[in-house]
Amino acid sequence: MNYQKILDEIAVEITTMPHEGTVADYIPELAKVDPDKFGIHLSTVRNEDFAIGDSEDKFSVQSISKVFSLAMAFSILGDKLWKRVGVEPSGNPFNSIVQLEYEDGIPRNPFVNAGALVIVDVLLSELENPEEDLFAFVKSLTASRQIGYNAVVAQSEKETGFLNAAFVNMMKAKGNIINQTDDILDFYYKQCSIELNCRELASAFLHFGENALSYSHAGFSLTKSQVKRLNALMLSCGFYDESGQFAFKVGLAGKSGVGGGIVAVYPEEFAVAVWSPKLNKKGNSVRGFHSLELLTTKTESSIF
Ligand code: GLU
Repeated sequence: MNYQKILDEIAVEITTMPHEGTVADYIPELAKVDPDKFGIHLSTVRNEDFAIGDSEDKFSVQSISKVFSLAMAFSILGDKLWKRVGVEPSGNPFNSIVQLEYEDGIPRNPFVNAGALVIVDVLLSELENPEEDLFAFVKSLTASRQIGYNAVVAQSEKETGFLNAAFVNMMKAKGNIINQTDDILDFYYKQCSIELNCRELASAFLHFGENALSYSHAGFSLTKSQVKRLNALMLSCGFYDESGQFAFKVGLAGKSGVGGGIVAVYPEEFAVAVWSPKLNKKGNSVRGFHSLELLTTKTESSIF
């Protein structure tokens, strides 16, 4: 498969389409990102790498980070984790509070914000140095020398994250949160404001396209069955309330973030990361979504 040729074709096709969408402006710092950035990096299981555009630029991974923290919490608690958070698509926006109240403080899945906040609660309770562990885990998966988060973005999220505070407080009232609200939010905003480039993301997610995280990454490993479940969650819940559309049009497990990144996995063949900051109304990168649709069409690489 000539992946480079296909990526080059995608770049041409994407830039001739109307450039729709808006950058995430509910986090003021994210609104400052250049909306025209566009990059793709595809890594195969044979250690081949293909890239176009701004694939080496670091950007805010936002919700993509929820896969990393979930992998850690699942590695620690195993199936006990599912008592605290569900595995069903929400059908609601990632920051909707309505469902959480009538479902008694148990978030639908680990990728809506409430679910990711429960995962943070687990990490804070179970680990002595949760922050160090998260960065070490991401560093190991990405094989990068340096991993960091953007403190200005984290602060910007903290100043405007009233709904996230509401999720934690409601879940605390309903008995599904143990740690202090501020500690959970501080960790969550650092996690969301981790900055990676497309190459690092593709390299990290390549591990989720293999059979298992069988060798330990900074002390965390997942069995074959656990990696399968992680992929099932990415497929059914990884794209906000547009996960059905993504499965329908792209046909891969993956995760998006409001920083404009999308990562997708074609098991035992490749992982691909796309970055383009303009989002559609559901919060997914417009060009990212289109690029992946073109990629799986041209390569016939849908999992279905
Ligand atoms: N930090 C963002 C928030 O809490 C993450 C949202 C996302 O990427 O989906 O709103």
